[in-house]
Amino acid sequence: MIDLARLNSVAAPEFVAALASIFEHSPWVPERVAAARPFASGVALHAAMSDAVMQAGEAMQLALIRAHPELAGRAAIRGDLTEASTSEQCGAGLSACTPGQYQRLQTLNAAYSARFGFPFILAVKGQTPDSVIAALERRVTHEESQERHVALLEICRIARFRLADLVDEPIGAAIIAMADDLARFSETTGSLTCSYLSPAHMDTAARIRDFMLAAGLDVHHDAVGNVVGVLPGGSARQLLTGSHYDTVINAGRYDGRLGIVLPIAVAGALRRAAVRLPFSLQIIAFAEEEGVRFRSTFLGSRAVAGRFDPTVLDTIDAQGMSLREAITAGGQDVADIPAIARDPAQLLGFVEVHIEQGPVLLDAGLPVGVVTSIAGSMRSTVTVEGLSGHAGTVPMPLRRDAAAAAAEIVLAVERRCSADPGLVGTVGKLEVPDGAMNVIPGRCHLSIDIRSGSDAVRDAAEADVSAEMQRIARRRNVTIEQSRVLEAPAIACAARIQDAWEASIRRVTGAPARRLPSGAGHDAMMMANLTDIGMLFVRCGNGGISHNPAETLSADDAAIAAAVFRDFLQHYKVPE
Ligand SMILES: [Zn+2]
Repeated sequence: MIDLARLNSVAAPEFVAALASIFEHSPWVPERVAAARPFASGVALHAAMSDAVMQAGEAMQLALIRAHPELAGRAAIRGDLTEASTSEQCGAGLSACTPGQYQRLQTLNAAYSARFGFPFILAVKGQTPDSVIAALERRVTHEESQERHVALLEICRIARFRLADLVDEPIGAAIIAMADDLARFSETTGSLTCSYLSPAHMDTAARIRDFMLAAGLDVHHDAVGNVVGVLPGGSARQLLTGSHYDTVINAGRYDGRLGIVLPIAVAGALRRAAVRLPFSLQIIAFAEEEGVRFRSTFLGSRAVAGRFDPTVLDTIDAQGMSLREAITAGGQDVADIPAIARDPAQLLGFVEVHIEQGPVLLDAGLPVGVVTSIAGSMRSTVTVEGLSGHAGTVPMPLRRDAAAAAAEIVLAVERRCSADPGLVGTVGKLEVPDGAMNVIPGRCHLSIDIRSGSDAVRDAAEADVSAEMQRIARRRNVTIEQSRVLEAPAIACAARIQDAWEASIRRVTGAPARRLPSGAGHDAMMMANLTDIGMLFVRCGNGGISHNPAETLSADDAAIAAAVFRDFLQHYKVPE
C-alpha cells in the first residue's frame, strides 16, 4: 500500500504512476487532479478523480468506458484481463457461473454491446451472477446517454474499491471524510435532512454499502433498510456494533453516522492487517432511529431486536404514504421483517460508538468516555386551569392566573432537577391557548420531561415535582392536571463491557476513563432486549451541540476513538 502523505508529496509523474491501476488504462484521470493535491483523505482524492471523469469530454468518457473488459467476456476467457479486473470478476463468482448463467450473460452482453457500442460495466464487488444478470437486463433498456452516465458511475465505484486497497491514510481523516461524504445526501438544500426511505436516505444506504465493500466486508441489506457489513472471524458467534444513518431535520453529520463509519474504518484496517478476531464482527447501519417520517422511533434496531410492531406498518407519513407502502416502494418485502430478528444465543454483545451530544467530555478535556447507562425518561403533559379575566380590571390578589402558576411549575422542575448531578428536567412546551395581551391567562399547557440514569432518582424527582404542583394549585386556586405520556426505564450498560472500554482507554490514552450516563436515547437501548450492551462516547465540539448543523468532531478525536475501538475488539473476551 502507498501512504496518502507520500502520494501528496511526490512529483506528479510518480503520483500518476502510483494510481495507474485505479482507472483502467486511463492515466489521464490522476493526471488531471495531480495539481489539486494535497488531499486530506482517500475519499477526497476519489471525489476529485470522479469529478474529473464526470466533467471530461464525451470522447474521453467513451474511451474510458471502452478501456474496460466485458464481464465474463472474451477477454476473461483469453486471460487478457488486468490483474485488478481478474480478481474483481472472480470475487463475484463470475468465473464459476453455471452454463445457463454464462449463456445468459453472453446473450445480454452481445445485445448490450450492439445497442450501445461499449462494454457493460458493473462494479462486481458484492454481486452474484444472478444480480449481475438482473442489472444487465435492466440497463440494456436504457437510453444511450443515461446508460453512459450509469457506466461512468460504476467506473467511479470500481475506482473507490481499488483505491481503498491501494492507499493508506490517517484513520481520523478517513472517518471524518466518510461522514462528510454521507452528509451530501439530503432532502433539503443547504442542510442535512435524511428521513427514512427518502431518496437521500436510499442514496446514503448505497454509499454506506460501498464503504463497507471497500473495507472488504461482506454486505447485505435487510427488509427495513438496515445495511449490514460482516468481518468474518474465528467463530460464528457475533459481536454487533452500529448506529443509525437517518437524521433529524437540519441535522449534524456525526449523530448516528459516527457509529457506522468508525467501525467500518477499523474493520477495514483489521482486514488489511490480516488480524483475525475470534468472533464475527457485524456492523449494522440502522435505517431509522429518529422517528421523523413515521413518528415511530428505532424502526431499524427494533427489527433486529425482534421488537418490530407490525401495527406501525399502517402509520401514514405527511404525504399520506403508509410505512408498508414506503418499504414496498423501496424494493423490500414487509413479510421478511420478522426474519431480521437475531438469535441471542449467537450474540456476544452490542456496542455503539456515538458522539456525546452534550458538553461533559468537552468540559473535562477528554476525547472519549464510557457510558454507564442510558437514562430512562418520564414525560407528562400538564394542563393548568385558572380563570381568564380583563387585564385591566381584576385586582392582583383576586386573580387565578394559569400562566403564573405554570411559571412556578417551570421553576419547581428546574430547582428539583438541579439537586442531583445525574438528573435533568425540562419544560419544553409552554403555551397559553388563545392568549391575548389584555387577557389574564385562564388556561396553560406545558410538558415535563425528567430523565436520570437511575429510575429511583427519576421517580423521586417526579413525585416531588407532582407534590409541589399540588401546593401551587392550592395557593393560587387553580386546578392542575398531569397525565403521563411516556415512562421508559433506564438501561444499564453491562459492567464487563464498561470495564473493557475503560481498559482500552487506559491502554490507548494512558489516562483513566471518565464514566458518564447518556441522557439521550440510542439504538443500544433497543438492543438491550437481546444482549449485553455497551457504549463509547466521543467528544462533541462546539459546546457539545447536537441535532444541529453546528455539531462537530475533530479528526484527532475520531482517531483516538478508532484506536480505542480497535483495542477493545482485539481484547474482547468471548465468554464460554
Ligand atoms: Zn443518534
